[in-house]
Amino acid sequence: MELCDLTAWQGMDMVSRGEAKVSEILESVLKRIDQVEEKVRSFITLTPDLALRETKRLDEKVGKSEELGRTGGIPLAVKDVLCTKGVRTTCASRILENYIPVYDATVIDKLKREDMVMVGKTNMDEFAMGSSTENSSFGPTSNPWDLTTVPGGSSGGSAAAVAAGEAMWSLGSDTGGSIRQPASFCGVVGMKPTYGLVSRYGLVAFASSLDQVGPITKDVRDCALLMSILAGHDPLDSTSLPGEPPDYLSSLREDIRGLKLGVPEELWGEGLAPGVRACVESALRLLEELGAMVEFTSLPSLKYALSAYYIIAPAEASSNLARYDGVRYGYRSEESEDVMEMYSRTRARGFGQEVKRRIMLGTYALSAGYYEAYYGQAQKIRTLIVRDFQSAFQRFDLLVSPTSPTTAFKLGEKVDDPLSMYLSDVCTIPVNLAGIPAISIPCGLDQGMPVGIQFIGKALDEATVLRAAYSLERALDRRFLPPLIAEAGES
Ligand code: GLN
Repeated sequence: MELCDLTAWQGMDMVSRGEAKVSEILESVLKRIDQVEEKVRSFITLTPDLALRETKRLDEKVGKSEELGRTGGIPLAVKDVLCTKGVRTTCASRILENYIPVYDATVIDKLKREDMVMVGKTNMDEFAMGSSTENSSFGPTSNPWDLTTVPGGSSGGSAAAVAAGEAMWSLGSDTGGSIRQPASFCGVVGMKPTYGLVSRYGLVAFASSLDQVGPITKDVRDCALLMSILAGHDPLDSTSLPGEPPDYLSSLREDIRGLKLGVPEELWGEGLAPGVRACVESALRLLEELGAMVEFTSLPSLKYALSAYYIIAPAEASSNLARYDGVRYGYRSEESEDVMEMYSRTRARGFGQEVKRRIMLGTYALSAGYYEAYYGQAQKIRTLIVRDFQSAFQRFDLLVSPTSPTTAFKLGEKVDDPLSMYLSDVCTIPVNLAGIPAISIPCGLDQGMPVGIQFIGKALDEATVLRAAYSLERALDRRFLPPLIAEAGES
Protein backbone atom coordinates (compact mmCIF):
# COMPACT_ATOMS: atom_id res chain seq x y z
CA MET A 1 0.00 0.00 0.00
CA GLU A 2 1.30 3.42 -0.97
CA LEU A 3 0.62 6.73 0.78
CA CYS A 4 -1.85 7.63 -1.99
CA ASP A 5 -3.97 4.60 -1.05
CA LEU A 6 -4.66 5.97 2.42
CA THR A 7 -7.84 7.87 3.16
CA ALA A 8 -7.42 11.64 3.53
CA TRP A 9 -7.80 11.52 7.32
CA GLN A 10 -5.21 8.73 7.59
CA GLY A 11 -2.84 10.90 5.54
CA MET A 12 -3.48 13.85 7.87
CA ASP A 13 -2.83 11.67 10.92
CA MET A 14 0.53 10.65 9.51
CA VAL A 15 1.47 14.27 8.86
CA SER A 16 0.47 15.31 12.35
CA ARG A 17 2.51 12.48 13.90
CA GLY A 18 5.52 13.51 11.80
CA GLU A 19 5.48 10.19 9.91
CA ALA A 20 5.00 11.76 6.48
CA LYS A 21 5.42 15.17 4.92
CA VAL A 22 2.61 16.83 2.99
CA SER A 23 4.93 16.84 -0.04
CA GLU A 24 5.57 13.09 0.28
CA ILE A 25 1.87 12.39 0.06
CA LEU A 26 1.68 14.51 -3.08
CA GLU A 27 4.71 12.71 -4.54
CA SER A 28 2.96 9.40 -4.02
CA VAL A 29 -0.17 10.69 -5.77
CA LEU A 30 1.87 12.11 -8.67
CA LYS A 31 3.71 8.79 -9.01
CA ARG A 32 0.39 6.96 -9.19
CA ILE A 33 -0.81 9.41 -11.85
CA ASP A 34 2.35 8.60 -13.83
CA GLN A 35 1.62 4.89 -13.52
CA VAL A 36 -2.07 4.77 -14.35
CA GLU A 37 -3.31 7.98 -15.97
CA GLU A 38 -2.57 6.76 -19.48
CA LYS A 39 -5.00 3.91 -18.90
CA VAL A 40 -7.65 5.59 -16.75
CA ARG A 41 -7.61 9.16 -18.16
CA SER A 42 -9.31 10.77 -15.18
CA PHE A 43 -8.04 14.28 -15.89
CA ILE A 44 -8.56 16.98 -18.49
CA THR A 45 -5.91 19.25 -16.95
CA LEU A 46 -3.20 18.33 -14.44
CA THR A 47 -1.73 21.00 -12.17
CA PRO A 48 1.35 19.35 -10.59
CA ASP A 49 3.41 22.55 -10.45
CA LEU A 50 0.74 24.40 -8.56
CA ALA A 51 0.38 21.45 -6.20
CA LEU A 52 4.14 21.16 -5.61
CA ARG A 53 4.36 24.85 -4.79
CA GLU A 54 1.54 24.52 -2.27
CA THR A 55 2.96 21.44 -0.53
CA LYS A 56 6.32 23.19 -0.17
CA ARG A 57 4.55 26.02 1.61
CA LEU A 58 2.65 23.56 3.79
CA ASP A 59 5.77 21.57 4.70
CA GLU A 60 7.27 24.86 5.91
CA LYS A 61 4.16 25.58 7.93
CA VAL A 62 4.43 22.16 9.61
CA GLY A 63 8.14 22.82 10.19
CA LYS A 64 7.23 25.98 12.11
CA SER A 65 4.63 24.00 14.12
CA GLU A 66 1.82 26.00 12.57
CA GLU A 67 -1.50 24.24 12.31
CA LEU A 68 -2.66 23.24 8.82
CA GLY A 69 -6.11 24.04 7.45
CA ARG A 70 -8.81 21.38 7.54
CA THR A 71 -7.93 19.75 4.20
CA GLY A 72 -4.44 19.14 5.60
CA GLY A 73 -2.95 19.64 2.12
CA ILE A 74 -4.19 16.19 1.08
CA PRO A 75 -4.27 16.05 -2.76
CA LEU A 76 -7.72 16.77 -4.16
CA ALA A 77 -9.15 16.68 -7.71
CA VAL A 78 -11.85 19.03 -8.96
CA LYS A 79 -14.50 18.32 -11.58
CA ASP A 80 -13.89 20.55 -14.58
CA VAL A 81 -17.29 22.21 -14.14
CA LEU A 82 -16.10 24.38 -11.22
CA CYS A 83 -14.39 27.68 -11.96
CA THR A 84 -10.77 27.81 -10.85
CA LYS A 85 -9.04 31.16 -11.15
CA GLY A 86 -6.16 30.96 -13.63
CA VAL A 87 -6.75 27.26 -14.34
CA ARG A 88 -8.58 26.24 -17.52
CA THR A 89 -12.18 25.18 -16.91
CA THR A 90 -13.66 23.36 -19.91
CA CYS A 91 -16.82 21.49 -18.80
CA ALA A 92 -15.40 18.89 -21.22
CA SER A 93 -16.74 21.03 -24.06
CA ARG A 94 -15.05 22.41 -27.18
CA ILE A 95 -16.95 25.60 -26.60
CA LEU A 96 -14.99 26.26 -23.37
CA GLU A 97 -11.79 24.50 -24.42
CA ASN A 98 -9.62 27.54 -23.72
CA TYR A 99 -11.67 29.24 -21.04
CA ILE A 100 -9.60 30.42 -18.07
CA PRO A 101 -11.82 31.82 -15.30
CA VAL A 102 -10.88 35.07 -13.61
CA TYR A 103 -12.49 33.95 -10.35
CA ASP A 104 -12.83 30.94 -8.07
CA ALA A 105 -16.06 29.13 -7.33
CA THR A 106 -17.04 29.65 -3.67
CA VAL A 107 -16.29 25.99 -2.86
CA ILE A 108 -12.78 26.40 -4.32
CA ASP A 109 -12.28 29.56 -2.31
CA LYS A 110 -13.36 27.76 0.86
CA LEU A 111 -11.00 24.87 0.20
CA LYS A 112 -8.10 27.22 -0.53
CA ARG A 113 -8.61 28.80 2.87
CA GLU A 114 -8.22 25.30 4.31
CA ASP A 115 -4.88 24.65 2.57
CA MET A 116 -6.19 22.72 -0.43
CA VAL A 117 -3.68 21.04 -2.71
CA MET A 118 -5.37 20.66 -6.09
CA VAL A 119 -3.82 18.08 -8.45
CA GLY A 120 -6.03 18.78 -11.46
CA LYS A 121 -9.39 19.17 -13.15
CA THR A 122 -11.22 15.95 -13.90
CA ASN A 123 -12.99 14.60 -16.94
CA MET A 124 -16.79 14.58 -17.17
CA ASP A 125 -19.67 14.37 -19.59
CA GLU A 126 -19.93 17.63 -21.53
CA PHE A 127 -21.74 20.19 -19.32
CA ALA A 128 -22.48 17.28 -16.92
CA MET A 129 -24.98 15.73 -19.33
CA GLY A 130 -24.53 11.99 -19.23
CA SER A 131 -23.99 8.92 -17.09
CA SER A 132 -20.75 7.45 -18.42
CA THR A 133 -18.23 10.27 -19.09
CA GLU A 134 -18.30 9.17 -22.74
CA ASN A 135 -19.89 12.49 -23.75
CA SER A 136 -16.62 14.31 -23.05
CA SER A 137 -14.98 16.11 -26.00
CA PHE A 138 -11.66 15.03 -24.52
CA GLY A 139 -12.35 11.28 -24.82
CA PRO A 140 -13.75 8.88 -22.25
CA THR A 141 -12.41 7.91 -18.81
CA SER A 142 -12.07 4.22 -17.91
CA ASN A 143 -13.24 2.56 -14.72
CA PRO A 144 -10.15 1.57 -12.67
CA TRP A 145 -11.92 -1.70 -11.70
CA ASP A 146 -12.11 -2.83 -15.32
CA LEU A 147 -10.67 -0.60 -18.01
CA THR A 148 -13.19 -1.82 -20.59
CA THR A 149 -16.07 -0.38 -18.55
CA VAL A 150 -17.27 3.18 -17.88
CA PRO A 151 -16.64 4.97 -14.57
CA GLY A 152 -20.19 6.32 -14.59
CA GLY A 153 -20.96 9.99 -14.99
CA SER A 154 -21.08 12.75 -15.27
CA SER A 155 -18.41 13.09 -12.52
CA GLY A 156 -16.63 9.99 -13.89
CA GLY A 157 -13.14 11.50 -13.78
CA SER A 158 -13.57 12.57 -10.14
CA ALA A 159 -14.72 9.09 -9.07
CA ALA A 160 -12.11 7.21 -11.13
CA ALA A 161 -9.29 9.44 -9.82
CA VAL A 162 -10.19 8.68 -6.19
CA ALA A 163 -10.66 4.95 -6.84
CA ALA A 164 -7.28 4.75 -8.58
CA GLY A 165 -5.40 6.82 -5.96
CA GLU A 166 -4.72 9.63 -8.47
CA ALA A 167 -6.28 11.96 -5.90
CA MET A 168 -7.28 11.17 -2.34
CA TRP A 169 -10.60 12.94 -2.60
CA SER A 170 -12.45 15.05 -5.12
CA LEU A 171 -15.35 17.33 -5.91
CA GLY A 172 -18.21 16.44 -8.23
CA SER A 173 -21.57 17.91 -9.14
CA ASP A 174 -24.91 16.12 -9.08
CA THR A 175 -27.98 17.18 -11.07
CA GLY A 176 -29.61 13.77 -11.41
CA GLY A 177 -27.05 11.39 -9.93
CA SER A 178 -23.72 12.55 -11.27
CA ILE A 179 -21.88 12.18 -7.95
CA ARG A 180 -23.61 9.08 -6.61
CA GLN A 181 -23.76 6.91 -9.73
CA PRO A 182 -20.03 7.24 -10.60
CA ALA A 183 -19.16 6.76 -6.92
CA SER A 184 -21.19 3.55 -7.02
CA PHE A 185 -19.56 2.33 -10.26
CA CYS A 186 -16.04 3.04 -8.96
CA GLY A 187 -16.45 1.69 -5.41
CA VAL A 188 -16.08 5.02 -3.59
CA VAL A 189 -18.29 7.28 -1.45
CA GLY A 190 -20.24 10.18 -2.99
CA MET A 191 -22.72 12.61 -1.47
CA LYS A 192 -25.28 14.98 -2.95
CA PRO A 193 -26.16 17.57 -0.27
CA THR A 194 -29.54 19.24 0.28
CA TYR A 195 -30.28 21.79 -2.45
CA GLY A 196 -28.94 25.14 -1.24
CA LEU A 197 -26.59 23.78 1.41
CA VAL A 198 -23.46 24.11 -0.74
CA SER A 199 -22.89 27.23 -2.82
CA ARG A 200 -23.36 26.98 -6.59
CA TYR A 201 -21.45 30.21 -7.24
CA GLY A 202 -18.83 29.38 -9.88
CA LEU A 203 -20.39 26.03 -10.71
CA VAL A 204 -21.15 26.17 -14.44
CA ALA A 205 -24.93 25.81 -14.59
CA PHE A 206 -26.65 22.81 -16.16
CA ALA A 207 -30.11 22.74 -14.51
CA SER A 208 -30.07 25.39 -11.81
CA SER A 209 -32.97 24.05 -9.72
CA LEU A 210 -31.26 20.64 -9.43
CA ASP A 211 -27.47 21.20 -9.47
CA GLN A 212 -25.46 20.66 -6.27
CA VAL A 213 -21.73 20.34 -5.57
CA GLY A 214 -20.57 17.51 -3.31
CA PRO A 215 -17.68 15.32 -2.20
CA ILE A 216 -16.34 12.03 -3.61
CA THR A 217 -14.12 10.27 -1.08
CA LYS A 218 -12.70 6.91 -0.03
CA ASP A 219 -14.75 6.66 3.12
CA VAL A 220 -17.60 8.28 5.03
CA ARG A 221 -15.35 10.06 7.49
CA ASP A 222 -13.57 11.93 4.68
CA CYS A 223 -16.98 12.72 3.21
CA ALA A 224 -18.19 14.23 6.51
CA LEU A 225 -15.01 16.28 6.79
CA LEU A 226 -15.31 17.67 3.26
CA MET A 227 -19.02 18.37 3.82
CA SER A 228 -18.18 20.43 6.90
CA ILE A 229 -15.87 22.59 4.79
CA LEU A 230 -18.18 22.95 1.76
CA ALA A 231 -21.52 23.62 3.47
CA GLY A 232 -22.70 27.03 4.60
CA HIS A 233 -24.41 30.19 3.45
CA ASP A 234 -22.98 32.14 0.52
CA PRO A 235 -24.28 35.65 -0.23
CA LEU A 236 -23.07 35.21 -3.83
CA ASP A 237 -25.63 32.44 -4.46
CA SER A 238 -29.25 33.57 -4.17
CA THR A 239 -30.44 29.97 -3.63
CA SER A 240 -28.00 29.40 -0.77
CA LEU A 241 -29.71 28.53 2.51
CA PRO A 242 -29.21 30.73 5.58
CA GLY A 243 -27.58 29.55 8.78
CA GLU A 244 -24.44 27.73 9.73
CA PRO A 245 -24.35 23.95 9.17
CA PRO A 246 -23.32 21.54 11.94
CA ASP A 247 -19.95 19.80 12.23
CA TYR A 248 -20.75 16.59 10.36
CA LEU A 249 -17.78 14.73 11.82
CA SER A 250 -19.35 14.78 15.25
CA SER A 251 -22.49 13.13 13.85
CA LEU A 252 -20.56 9.97 12.98
CA ARG A 253 -21.59 7.40 15.52
CA GLU A 254 -21.85 3.68 14.97
CA ASP A 255 -25.14 3.40 16.75
CA ILE A 256 -28.20 3.20 14.50
CA ARG A 257 -30.40 1.24 16.90
CA GLY A 258 -34.06 2.08 16.42
CA LEU A 259 -33.50 3.96 13.15
CA LYS A 260 -36.41 3.37 10.78
CA LEU A 261 -35.38 2.68 7.19
CA GLY A 262 -37.87 2.51 4.32
CA VAL A 263 -37.11 0.82 1.00
CA PRO A 264 -39.18 2.35 -1.84
CA GLU A 265 -40.61 -0.48 -3.95
CA GLU A 266 -40.45 1.79 -6.99
CA LEU A 267 -36.63 1.72 -6.77
CA TRP A 268 -36.49 -2.02 -6.30
CA GLY A 269 -38.22 -3.44 -9.36
CA GLU A 270 -37.68 -3.87 -13.02
CA GLY A 271 -34.19 -3.60 -14.45
CA LEU A 272 -32.45 -4.26 -11.12
CA ALA A 273 -29.55 -6.62 -11.78
CA PRO A 274 -29.74 -9.79 -9.61
CA GLY A 275 -26.19 -9.28 -8.32
CA VAL A 276 -26.96 -5.70 -7.29
CA ARG A 277 -30.16 -6.82 -5.58
CA ALA A 278 -28.26 -9.53 -3.67
CA CYS A 279 -25.58 -7.11 -2.42
CA VAL A 280 -28.09 -4.48 -1.29
CA GLU A 281 -30.26 -7.16 0.36
CA SER A 282 -27.34 -8.40 2.42
CA ALA A 283 -26.50 -4.81 3.38
CA LEU A 284 -30.11 -4.38 4.54
CA ARG A 285 -29.79 -7.50 6.70
CA LEU A 286 -26.62 -6.11 8.21
CA LEU A 287 -28.40 -2.83 8.97
CA GLU A 288 -31.08 -4.86 10.77
CA GLU A 289 -28.44 -6.67 12.78
CA LEU A 290 -27.12 -3.26 13.78
CA GLY A 291 -30.53 -2.48 15.24
CA ALA A 292 -32.25 -0.58 12.42
CA MET A 293 -35.78 -1.44 11.34
CA VAL A 294 -36.14 -2.07 7.62
CA GLU A 295 -39.49 -2.02 5.87
CA PHE A 296 -40.64 -1.86 2.24
CA THR A 297 -42.83 1.10 1.36
CA SER A 298 -44.33 2.81 -1.67
CA LEU A 299 -43.77 6.29 -3.10
CA PRO A 300 -46.05 5.96 -6.12
CA SER A 301 -45.05 9.13 -7.96
CA LEU A 302 -41.41 8.04 -8.19
CA LYS A 303 -42.24 6.07 -11.31
CA TYR A 304 -42.71 9.36 -13.15
CA ALA A 305 -39.49 10.93 -11.88
CA LEU A 306 -37.32 10.06 -14.87
CA SER A 307 -39.85 11.47 -17.36
CA ALA A 308 -40.28 14.67 -15.37
CA TYR A 309 -36.51 15.07 -15.01
CA TYR A 310 -35.96 14.77 -18.76
CA ILE A 311 -38.32 17.70 -19.29
CA ILE A 312 -37.17 19.92 -16.42
CA ALA A 313 -33.40 19.42 -16.73
CA PRO A 314 -33.23 19.99 -20.52
CA ALA A 315 -35.63 22.97 -20.21
CA GLU A 316 -33.31 24.66 -17.72
CA ALA A 317 -30.25 23.62 -19.72
CA SER A 318 -31.61 25.13 -22.94
CA SER A 319 -31.91 28.45 -21.17
CA ASN A 320 -28.59 28.23 -19.29
CA LEU A 321 -26.62 27.27 -22.39
CA ALA A 322 -27.95 30.20 -24.42
CA ARG A 323 -25.00 32.20 -23.09
CA TYR A 324 -22.51 30.26 -25.26
CA ASP A 325 -22.92 32.35 -28.37
CA GLY A 326 -19.30 33.06 -29.27
CA VAL A 327 -19.55 36.68 -28.16
CA ARG A 328 -18.37 37.06 -24.59
CA TYR A 329 -16.19 34.03 -24.05
CA GLY A 330 -15.37 30.59 -25.32
CA TYR A 331 -15.08 29.31 -28.86
CA ARG A 332 -16.20 31.48 -31.80
CA SER A 333 -16.51 30.32 -35.39
CA GLU A 334 -14.59 32.89 -37.44
CA GLU A 335 -15.77 32.13 -40.96
CA SER A 336 -19.22 33.64 -40.81
CA GLU A 337 -20.73 36.36 -42.99
CA ASP A 338 -23.07 37.79 -40.39
CA VAL A 339 -23.87 37.51 -36.72
CA MET A 340 -26.67 34.94 -37.06
CA GLU A 341 -24.40 32.64 -39.00
CA MET A 342 -21.68 33.17 -36.39
CA TYR A 343 -24.06 32.12 -33.60
CA SER A 344 -25.21 29.04 -35.36
CA ARG A 345 -21.79 27.87 -36.54
CA THR A 346 -20.28 28.49 -33.11
CA ARG A 347 -22.95 26.40 -31.43
CA ALA A 348 -22.99 23.72 -34.13
CA ARG A 349 -19.23 23.17 -33.79
CA GLY A 350 -18.82 23.98 -30.12
CA PHE A 351 -21.44 21.63 -28.66
CA GLY A 352 -21.42 17.83 -28.79
CA GLN A 353 -24.31 15.59 -29.74
CA GLU A 354 -25.86 15.03 -26.31
CA VAL A 355 -25.75 18.73 -25.44
CA LYS A 356 -27.52 19.53 -28.69
CA ARG A 357 -30.11 16.85 -27.97
CA ARG A 358 -30.83 18.41 -24.55
CA ILE A 359 -31.07 21.94 -25.97
CA MET A 360 -33.58 20.74 -28.56
CA LEU A 361 -35.61 18.77 -26.01
CA GLY A 362 -35.68 21.73 -23.65
CA THR A 363 -36.51 24.31 -26.28
CA TYR A 364 -39.35 22.15 -27.51
CA ALA A 365 -40.73 21.58 -24.01
CA LEU A 366 -40.71 25.32 -23.31
CA SER A 367 -42.15 26.47 -26.62
CA ALA A 368 -45.53 28.18 -26.79
CA GLY A 369 -48.27 25.63 -27.23
CA TYR A 370 -46.32 22.80 -25.59
CA TYR A 371 -45.32 24.53 -22.37
CA GLU A 372 -48.32 23.41 -20.32
CA ALA A 373 -48.36 19.91 -21.77
CA TYR A 374 -44.71 19.25 -20.97
CA TYR A 375 -43.04 21.71 -18.60
CA GLY A 376 -46.21 22.44 -16.64
CA GLN A 377 -47.00 18.74 -16.21
CA ALA A 378 -43.43 17.95 -15.21
CA GLN A 379 -43.52 20.63 -12.52
CA LYS A 380 -46.73 19.13 -11.12
CA ILE A 381 -45.10 15.70 -10.97
CA ARG A 382 -42.17 17.30 -9.19
CA THR A 383 -44.58 18.57 -6.52
CA LEU A 384 -46.08 15.09 -6.13
CA ILE A 385 -42.61 13.63 -5.68
CA VAL A 386 -41.77 16.21 -3.01
CA ARG A 387 -45.01 15.29 -1.19
CA ASP A 388 -44.35 11.54 -1.45
CA PHE A 389 -40.97 12.02 0.18
CA GLN A 390 -42.45 14.28 2.87
CA SER A 391 -45.06 11.71 3.82
CA ALA A 392 -42.51 8.85 3.75
CA PHE A 393 -40.31 10.83 6.13
CA GLN A 394 -43.15 11.02 8.62
CA ARG A 395 -42.74 7.28 9.04
CA PHE A 396 -39.07 6.72 8.26
CA ASP A 397 -35.81 8.36 9.29
CA LEU A 398 -34.14 7.44 6.00
CA LEU A 399 -34.96 5.75 2.71
CA VAL A 400 -32.60 3.17 1.23
CA SER A 401 -32.13 1.86 -2.32
CA PRO A 402 -29.51 0.65 -4.75
CA THR A 403 -27.65 3.67 -6.19
CA SER A 404 -27.88 2.38 -9.74
CA PRO A 405 -29.75 -0.68 -11.08
CA THR A 406 -26.55 -2.20 -12.53
CA THR A 407 -22.81 -2.15 -12.01
CA ALA A 408 -20.56 -0.34 -14.51
CA PHE A 409 -21.42 -1.16 -18.11
CA LYS A 410 -19.03 -1.57 -21.04
CA LEU A 411 -17.56 1.47 -22.80
CA GLY A 412 -19.58 2.01 -25.97
CA GLU A 413 -22.48 -0.16 -24.81
CA LYS A 414 -25.03 2.61 -24.36
CA VAL A 415 -23.70 5.59 -26.33
CA ASP A 416 -26.14 5.08 -29.16
CA ASP A 417 -29.10 4.39 -26.92
CA PRO A 418 -29.83 7.54 -24.88
CA LEU A 419 -32.90 6.06 -23.22
CA SER A 420 -31.05 3.12 -21.71
CA MET A 421 -28.31 5.55 -20.62
CA TYR A 422 -30.95 7.73 -18.91
CA LEU A 423 -32.25 4.69 -17.00
CA SER A 424 -28.94 4.39 -15.17
CA ASP A 425 -30.10 7.27 -12.94
CA VAL A 426 -33.57 6.02 -12.14
CA CYS A 427 -32.77 5.67 -8.41
CA THR A 428 -30.88 8.93 -8.02
CA ILE A 429 -33.01 11.41 -10.00
CA PRO A 430 -36.02 11.56 -7.59
CA VAL A 431 -33.67 12.85 -4.89
CA ASN A 432 -32.64 15.87 -6.98
CA LEU A 433 -36.24 16.65 -7.88
CA ALA A 434 -37.05 16.73 -4.15
CA GLY A 435 -33.90 18.70 -3.25
CA ILE A 436 -32.97 16.31 -0.43
CA PRO A 437 -29.60 14.78 0.56
CA ALA A 438 -28.33 11.30 -0.32
CA ILE A 439 -25.10 9.34 -0.17
CA SER A 440 -23.79 6.33 -2.06
CA ILE A 441 -21.32 3.97 -0.40
CA PRO A 442 -19.92 0.69 -1.71
CA CYS A 443 -21.63 -2.36 -0.17
CA GLY A 444 -20.19 -5.30 -2.09
CA LEU A 445 -19.05 -6.66 -5.44
CA ASP A 446 -21.06 -8.23 -8.24
CA GLN A 447 -18.81 -10.27 -10.53
CA GLY A 448 -15.84 -8.25 -9.39
CA MET A 449 -17.50 -4.85 -9.91
CA PRO A 450 -18.56 -2.51 -7.07
CA VAL A 451 -22.19 -2.12 -6.02
CA GLY A 452 -23.41 1.06 -4.29
CA ILE A 453 -26.16 1.47 -1.72
CA GLN A 454 -27.95 4.82 -1.41
CA PHE A 455 -29.22 6.42 1.83
CA ILE A 456 -31.70 9.26 1.31
CA GLY A 457 -32.52 11.73 4.10
CA LYS A 458 -34.85 14.59 4.96
CA ALA A 459 -33.87 18.07 3.83
CA LEU A 460 -30.85 19.22 5.86
CA ASP A 461 -30.57 15.92 7.68
CA GLU A 462 -27.12 15.09 6.27
CA ALA A 463 -26.11 14.10 9.79
CA THR A 464 -28.43 11.05 9.88
CA VAL A 465 -27.51 10.08 6.30
CA LEU A 466 -23.82 10.14 7.22
CA ARG A 467 -24.38 8.28 10.49
CA ALA A 468 -26.19 5.36 8.82
CA ALA A 469 -23.62 5.18 6.03
CA TYR A 470 -20.80 5.25 8.57
CA SER A 471 -22.19 2.41 10.65
CA LEU A 472 -22.79 0.22 7.62
CA GLU A 473 -19.28 0.96 6.36
CA ARG A 474 -17.83 -0.02 9.75
CA ALA A 475 -19.88 -3.20 9.87
CA LEU A 476 -18.87 -4.21 6.32
CA ASP A 477 -15.28 -3.72 7.48
CA ARG A 478 -13.55 -3.88 4.11
CA ARG A 479 -11.71 -1.57 1.76
CA PHE A 480 -12.76 -1.55 -1.88
CA LEU A 481 -9.53 -1.26 -3.86
CA PRO A 482 -9.54 -1.92 -7.59
CA PRO A 483 -7.17 -4.61 -8.94
CA LEU A 484 -5.33 -1.93 -10.91
CA ILE A 485 -3.89 -0.59 -7.67
CA ALA A 486 -2.43 -3.92 -6.69
CA GLU A 487 -0.66 -3.99 -10.10
CA ALA A 488 0.58 -0.40 -9.78
CA GLY A 489 1.90 -1.22 -6.30
CA GLU A 490 3.99 -4.09 -7.69
CA SER A 491 5.67 -2.18 -10.51
N1 GLN B 1 -27.16 11.45 -16.03
C1 GLN B 1 -28.05 12.52 -15.76
C2 GLN B 1 -28.12 13.43 -16.95
O1 GLN B 1 -27.53 13.12 -17.91
C3 GLN B 1 -27.59 13.27 -14.53
C4 GLN B 1 -26.43 14.13 -14.82
C5 GLN B 1 -25.98 14.92 -13.62
O2 GLN B 1 -26.32 14.62 -12.49
N2 GLN B 1 -25.22 15.96 -13.90
O3 GLN B 1 -28.75 14.45 -16.95
